[in-house]
Amino acid sequence: MLQTWEFESEVLGIENFVQDGRIIARIIRLEKPEYFSFQAGQFAMITIHGYEPGENRNKQLWRAYSICSSPLQGYIELCISIKEPPSFTHFMNENVQAGGKMKVKGPYGGFVLRENPEAINLIAAGTGIAPIMGMIRDLALRRAKIPLRLFYGYRNSNQHYYSEELKEVVANMKNLGMLTIASREGPNPGHVQKLLEDFDFTGDKELEDTYICGPPKMVDHAKEIMMQKGFPKTRIYAEKYD
Ligand SMILES: Cc1cc2nc3c(=O)[nH]c(=O)nc-3n(C[C@H](O)[C@H](O)[C@H](O)COP(=O)(O)OP(=O)(O)OC[C@H]3O[C@@H](n4cnc5c(N)ncnc54)[C@H](O)[C@@H]3O)c2cc1C
Repeated sequence: MLQTWEFESEVLGIENFVQDGRIIARIIRLEKPEYFSFQAGQFAMITIHGYEPGENRNKQLWRAYSICSSPLQGYIELCISIKEPPSFTHFMNENVQAGGKMKVKGPYGGFVLRENPEAINLIAAGTGIAPIMGMIRDLALRRAKIPLRLFYGYRNSNQHYYSEELKEVVANMKNLGMLTIASREGPNPGHVQKLLEDFDFTGDKELEDTYICGPPKMVDHAKEIMMQKGFPKTRIYAEKYD
C-alpha cells in the first residue's frame, strides 16, 4: 500500500471568489510538511476542528479535495466550491481564515499523469480545474515538451479560477494550447463539451492521454465525445465530483 500521512496544517493564504455578495469558492494555500509527498492530480482528505457532521445527511467528518499544486511547489493548494448551509464547506468558510489550521490526510487517488504519452488533453469544468491545475503546474515545472491541450469551461468571470495564472503559463509554454468557454456570459455561451466537438484533433490518438475532471454529467459526455473522436477508452482518465 502506498504511504499516506495525517497532519495539521496552517492556512497560509486564501483567495475568495464572490458572486452576488456570497463567497462561492476559495483557493486555500496550506503549509506542506517536508515529508509529505504526492503526485500531481491526487487528492487529500480535509477536516476542521469543531466541525460536527450533519444529523440526517452527510455524516462523514472528512471531505476529499484535489490538490491544485505541483509536488515541486512548497505548499498544498486546494480550490473549493462553497455550498449552501448546512454543509462542511459553509462551516469551513465561516471558521477558517489565514493563520488558522486544517487537518489533512493523504495523498489518495490514481488520477495522475502516466509516463510517456505523445500528447496530453486536459479537460476541466468549474472546480474540476483543481487537479488539472496541479498537472499543468507540474508539467510546466518539469518543462514538458510534448503538445498539451487544455479545454476549460467555467460559468462566468467571477468563477474563472486561475484565469491570470493560466494566461501566463500559456504565454510561457509554447507547447500548451488553451481553449476556454463560459456557460453563463458572453455572446456564445456554452459548455466545455462544445470546445471538444469543434476541435480538430490531429496526431496519433492511440498514443495520447486524456484527463477529464468536473461534474459527473460533464465528465461522461466529454468522455463519450473523446471516444467518438477516436481516443481509446483505456487512455481516458476521469475524476468526477460536484
Ligand atoms: C476525489 C474527489 C476530489 C474532490 N475534489 C474537490 C475539489 O477539488 N473541489 C471541490 O470543491 N470539491 C471537491 N470534491 C467534492 C467534495 O469532496 C465535497 O463532496 C463537496 O465539497 C461537498 O460539499 P460539502 O462537503 O460542503 O457538502 P456536504 O456537507 O457534504 O453537504 C452536501 C449538501 O447537502 C446539504 N446538507 C448537508 N447536511 C445537511 C443536513 N443535515 N440537512 C439538510 N441538508 C444538508 C448541504 O447543504 C449541501 O448542499 C471532491 C470529491 C472527490 C470524491
